[in-house]
Amino acid sequence: MTLSQTAQTVQPTSRGYVSLPVAGNQHQLSEVDRYVDDFDALAALEAGAEQDLAAIEALPHWQATAYESRYLPALRLVGLDAKEKVVLQNTADLHIHTQWSDGDDLDRVLAAAVEQRLDAIAITDHDEIGGALEARRRAHRRRLPLAVIPGVEVSSRDGHIGALFVTRTVPKGLSAAETVERIHQAGGIAVAHHPFAPKLIERLLRVKLGCGDLLNTVPFDAIECTNAVPGFAARYNLAARDAVENQRIRVAVTGSSDAHAAWQVGKGRTYYAGNEGPLSLQRSLQFGLCQGAEGYWRFREKIRYRLHLLKALGKNFLFRRNSIG
Ligand SMILES: [Zn+2]
Ligand SMILES: [Zn+2]
Repeated sequence: MTLSQTAQTVQPTSRGYVSLPVAGNQHQLSEVDRYVDDFDALAALEAGAEQDLAAIEALPHWQATAYESRYLPALRLVGLDAKEKVVLQNTADLHIHTQWSDGDDLDRVLAAAVEQRLDAIAITDHDEIGGALEARRRAHRRRLPLAVIPGVEVSSRDGHIGALFVTRTVPKGLSAAETVERIHQAGGIAVAHHPFAPKLIERLLRVKLGCGDLLNTVPFDAIECTNAVPGFAARYNLAARDAVENQRIRVAVTGSSDAHAAWQVGKGRTYYAGNEGPLSLQRSLQFGLCQGAEGYWRFREKIRYRLHLLKALGKNFLFRRNSIG
């Protein structure tokens, strides 16, 4: 359904405009009238955002709200001629922490995502989904131009696994295969996070961070080939890319910041095409159609990120929090 068709369901128009028929073609709207009708349809979707989310939150599995899958893409399409021929190119950061685990203040994270002009973010706290659900509510309440995908970074005993598009947590401490199965049962997408994280850090923290060669046997939907920790990450990101190529199967590739501070949001990015917001992202992940890459760095920022990481490593080592990454 095109946006113009959607608009015709809103009658009478909330602003009292009347669509005048164009001479010679009763059914064709003039350019100005089509814009006005689109705008009214958008206003209706915007007004219902919170109610729509409340209804969907009662369901056992994730679903997109009309605000996420129609309103937000339409904001970019409205006013364009031949919009049915336009395919939007979208950007997401699919691995972000908040104060619900060891990350930054949620409002700062949301503000950073909007400032970076991301179309979507996934909040993935360690074994915790509260921040992700709250972020989605705030995005609807404030009408932010941002789709929030609820997620969790699950501490499997084989390494960290991202569960995206889920509405509840998945138990930690299971094997990677069991974890991926649980994520699929919950209707989610399973992403192997930083699969070749350095062994030295795993030994220091006494925690398994990456699933490594299990990529060959466990049915992950996607592999995080760009984890934006600067410096030594380049090597383990390359190992992940090699693994994807060696598998010779079409598996989605993601890029993510793994942000633990708001200013890091957007330093890793996943690119996907489509006009249905998070539904387009979900399909791109399922069918191996998205790609990941680094965001934009200033040299100063790389230094700052590494210092932040060293500080976090120190805290984890001293207090045995084992929650980094
Ligand atoms: Zn991790
Ligand atoms: Zn993480």
